[in-house]
Amino acid sequence: MSKLVRLFFLFPVLAILIPTTDLFGSDVYGPRPFHQILDSDLTKTWSPASVSAIQNREHVLLVDAGTMSYCLTVDPSDPSSLGVGDVSVLTGGTGTYGNAVRSMFQVLDLNTAVLATESLTGTYTLHPWLASYHAMDADADIASGSASSVVIRDKNSFYMAEQSTIAFLVFTLAGTASSTTVQATSRYFYNTSLDPAIYELDTEWSADQWLRMDATSVSLTAVESEATAFMLADANDLIDVKVPAGSDFNPQSTDWQTNSFAAWPTGNDTPWDYDESQLNSDGFLQSVDDYYETQFGDSDEASAAASSALDAIEASLAGQGAALRYSKDVYLTFRESLLGYEFGAVDMYNSVLGEKTVENVYFTNAADDDGMYHPFMVIASHNAPAGPQFLIDVARPPGDGIGGTYEDQTITRNAVLENRLVKIPLRDYGLVSTLTDNDLSEYGTLAEDMGLTEDDWTVDNYASLSSSAIAVDGAMIYPAFSNILVYATFSAEITVSGIHVGRGMGFHYHADGHSFNGNGINLYNLGDYEGHSHPPIIGFVFDGIAVFGKYESTYDSMDGHGDVLDDYNGHTHDDYGYHHHAYSTEVAQQAQNGQAVTYVQHFFQRGAFKGLVNDIPGLFQVSTSQFMEDEYKRYVGAEGTVVVGTDDGLILQTPVSFNISQNYPNPFNPLTTLSYDLPENEHVGITIFDIAGKRVKTLVNTYQLAGSRSTQWNATNDAGTPVSGGLYFYTIRAGDLKQTRKMLLLK
Ligand SMILES: [Zn+2]
Ligand SMILES: [Zn+2]
Repeated sequence: MSKLVRLFFLFPVLAILIPTTDLFGSDVYGPRPFHQILDSDLTKTWSPASVSAIQNREHVLLVDAGTMSYCLTVDPSDPSSLGVGDVSVLTGGTGTYGNAVRSMFQVLDLNTAVLATESLTGTYTLHPWLASYHAMDADADIASGSASSVVIRDKNSFYMAEQSTIAFLVFTLAGTASSTTVQATSRYFYNTSLDPAIYELDTEWSADQWLRMDATSVSLTAVESEATAFMLADANDLIDVKVPAGSDFNPQSTDWQTNSFAAWPTGNDTPWDYDESQLNSDGFLQSVDDYYETQFGDSDEASAAASSALDAIEASLAGQGAALRYSKDVYLTFRESLLGYEFGAVDMYNSVLGEKTVENVYFTNAADDDGMYHPFMVIASHNAPAGPQFLIDVARPPGDGIGGTYEDQTITRNAVLENRLVKIPLRDYGLVSTLTDNDLSEYGTLAEDMGLTEDDWTVDNYASLSSSAIAVDGAMIYPAFSNILVYATFSAEITVSGIHVGRGMGFHYHADGHSFNGNGINLYNLGDYEGHSHPPIIGFVFDGIAVFGKYESTYDSMDGHGDVLDDYNGHTHDDYGYHHHAYSTEVAQQAQNGQAVTYVQHFFQRGAFKGLVNDIPGLFQVSTSQFMEDEYKRYVGAEGTVVVGTDDGLILQTPVSFNISQNYPNPFNPLTTLSYDLPENEHVGITIFDIAGKRVKTLVNTYQLAGSRSTQWNATNDAGTPVSGGLYFYTIRAGDLKQTRKMLLLK
């Protein structure tokens, strides 16, 4: 092939329909994302009952105790505005999840974050479920002394300092949980004139102000007799987010730890403004080849481009006698699902309501140096779930790793967005028959990290030291085991939704929240199953195997229901190919005192790979720095790594570095081929020298386009006369680069 042409393909604009029902003998669909859950019916009826006591971390609805008709609620269109909700839609079962969730608040003691050094104050800040970094405040300037109404204000998110007023109210709840006034006894404001800025008591604030709520509005009153008596109704009776002692997510009844909260990451990991996130920056666009950018975003055009890219990938795999692991619709469905998640809760320091958790999902198709294609689904994700996660309530979160024992460490009860570039292989590399068919020696495993020998490697411990899969909301999934080879659930490290954060404050799932607690606001929920013939797709493992939701007894006619799952929690049935399911089973773990504790483990993903991974380039690479690594950047579609074939539909990969191969054959007589890789369009000179360094022949002296190229030498000199046998050198120059090799002419 003498001509490689870089084309900017114009994709045919196809109206592609993502199948939601059987099209290929399988039913693949994503779960309903959080913002859609908010709009869906909460059919359960509710009888408000107060929490057992007014104490730190209670989840409550503030219902007027007199009529039980109204509750404090956050305005659906303006999360900073407080209004009055109708309790009857919740008691009557006619409301939505949004009606419930927007009326839910967490009561936090003023000193919750610093209990390692301070005591409980018995005074509280009030935080809406959908904005845990925000709190109730007076609708007044700092030092106003009093106010007539209340608002929700940013208390400690990344964007706090952008607010004109930064302050919060501290309440005293003097009554009982079934009837208490809510007195705004003090107010704190963020004093930005200090360096560093800190929260200070607003000394002008008058303590004689109480919340008053009627049918239409909520306000502050200075007249105590006008104060509303509130019931602190238990929110868990409506949407249960408890992880009780002795439950499957806290089987050892571990106490809630009072360590202080870890500080925000610094240095390279310092949190950033969502608007300046790397994943939606111009720099990202410049990093990715124009060819792939047609798939960017969440539009019909982008979906059509993604579909066309998969066609080209299928064709190029077929040309190598290979295939996609799953049918095209599985990848297109997962892509659409990932792009359907938006932040419905401000539960991460630098997230923004309504923005996407996953920015782009695109299909790449680069070949390795031997010409083997390794197509990937590349997911540019902020690594965060879309709904509230309740990290405050985790009994024993991971420590920050700084300092000696756990007791000395600060702990991770806060989260930040991250930039992740996750690659899910599309090529069917096959399945292992035993664990060690996969060679993970270059990466390390949980088992080896703990010094286990091969005899003790299992589907739980022969697993990644960090992430090994991605969930359909774009958050990372880690093996079920922690790095000390116990299930993270056993150590009471995770939230009701099966997630937590480690050092660096990035989220990751360790367990399946849905099968622990079917509260309706998990990653996937029972409502998703309605009208379908298989559980929803909920994740993809780095070996290319899909993960589906748990089989539910109430949907026992689903495809594959009752089919046994193997040790990897996977099976093959109908036209689904091999896939995993979330799965619950009884396990035994050893407590610190040596006693075995038996409980039900709710697996999201087990740990070990069932898919063969030995040929997958950059297996555990999830960083955006892949763009800068010559070996991997082609697989994330880096600029300049794509050349589109003119007639065969193949996406070829441009060599990433100048490289010349040994001539072939060698020794030779009289014809040999000289091959080289040209990463950029360059002036190329190829010259043959004899052993004395004298020029014998100029083979090439011209401008050439990038690509893998070759030329032949017939053992003649510039005059066309055959040369004598012996050792020769050939030098290939490309611009400023030069390489020389020797070859032997045998006569
Ligand atoms: Zn973890
Ligand atoms: Zn199945």
